Amino acid sequence: MADHSSTALRGALLVTQDDERKVFRGDVLLRDGTIEQVAPAIKGKADHELDAHRYLIAPGFVNTHTHIANALLKGTADDRGFFQFLETMFAVDAKRTEEDIEAGALLGAAEMLLGGTTGFLDMYYGEDAVARACERIGIRGFLGWVVLDPEITTQKGVPVENAAHFITRWKKHERVSPLVSLQGVYACKDDTWLKAKELAEREKVLLHYHLSETRGEVQENEKKRGKRPPEWLDSLGFLGRHQVAAHGVWLTTREIELLARKGVAVAHCPSSNMKLASGGGGICPVTELRAAGATVAMATDSSSSNNGLSMLREMHLAALAHKQQRHDPESLPAPVVLDMATRDAAKALGRERDLGQLAPGFKADLVLYDLSHPSLLPTRVENAVSNLVYSAQDDAVHTVYVQGEKVVEARRLLKLDWEKEAPNIERIASALLHPASLG
Ligand SMILES: [Zn+2]
Repeated sequence: MADHSSTALRGALLVTQDDERKVFRGDVLLRDGTIEQVAPAIKGKADHELDAHRYLIAPGFVNTHTHIANALLKGTADDRGFFQFLETMFAVDAKRTEEDIEAGALLGAAEMLLGGTTGFLDMYYGEDAVARACERIGIRGFLGWVVLDPEITTQKGVPVENAAHFITRWKKHERVSPLVSLQGVYACKDDTWLKAKELAEREKVLLHYHLSETRGEVQENEKKRGKRPPEWLDSLGFLGRHQVAAHGVWLTTREIELLARKGVAVAHCPSSNMKLASGGGGICPVTELRAAGATVAMATDSSSSNNGLSMLREMHLAALAHKQQRHDPESLPAPVVLDMATRDAAKALGRERDLGQLAPGFKADLVLYDLSHPSLLPTRVENAVSNLVYSAQDDAVHTVYVQGEKVVEARRLLKLDWEKEAPNIERIASALLHPASLG
């Protein structure tokens, strides 16, 4: 439920991420789940008044690629290559229940909210359980029911039909946006891609998929279909707007131009790519994609390949990895990385008009960082963006609003009792991670 009263947050250090990227000391007025005003001094009295001098306020992060229910699987498939990793994941997937998917989603959502992330784009099956977790904890979820070839899935029924039913069930929810996702070219044949696209167009929802994550996946597609993945998908007539492709590590110059021309956004997941050594020394060509006009957004991927969901940590790593790889300290500067985690992430989801900025008319999804936290002291207008990208730690997050509703305060989740939830999640994790379950 949105809070219908008004709230004024006064005197904070504001990192607006608006079109001028304004950073200044000022007030924010929230009403009916929306940001009504952002100004140096807002007149009048709100229903709730907060002296926010000790806070930096910024838009909440939008994490554009996760498998949130895998928060239960951290530390179960480390230090191995992509296809061995996938083998373990698929073995666990086959044994998962609605109960442990919901527990995993709740755990992942808790980690995200407490790290300043207010929205995320997810790919999994059993997304009803993820949607329920989002509603319970208060985070904004863009949830993609994963579609793959019916003959290899562990889902009951036909995946694309499951996706269609999921969309029907959750279409009218305020904080849950259902959509269609696809595992990737190694698990989906042409008919599967086209049926997913047809469904997305019919329902006017996003498409989300893994693309060119590993060299093996690209070579295998070339061998099997005579084309690299983006060219093959284009030849099917698949590529287009309202699509978010995760990874894009192995892209040629021609493919970069193709994705930009078709309006496909790319979710950059540097931790996952580096941990699985997907790039083998390379990295998603963020600079070239941006130069070609593509939208590139930040993402963590899942807790089984990251192994966390911190967008602060991911921004830090992205900025450093690109500088190192290109021998160029000016590569991926802090303001660009912050854009990728906020306004560009919103744009990737087609929500650039109401998410990702601290500006009038935008949803009140925002984060208050404690300026006295050692990782942020001293922060002022001049170094606020740099400090967020390079220095801030998750526990500098003090308060989080989603849709104007306070969901975190003083680092405590407000909509549920974590002291009660944690032992329950531990019990469910123990059953799922029993050695016999891991195969
Ligand atoms: Zn993924």
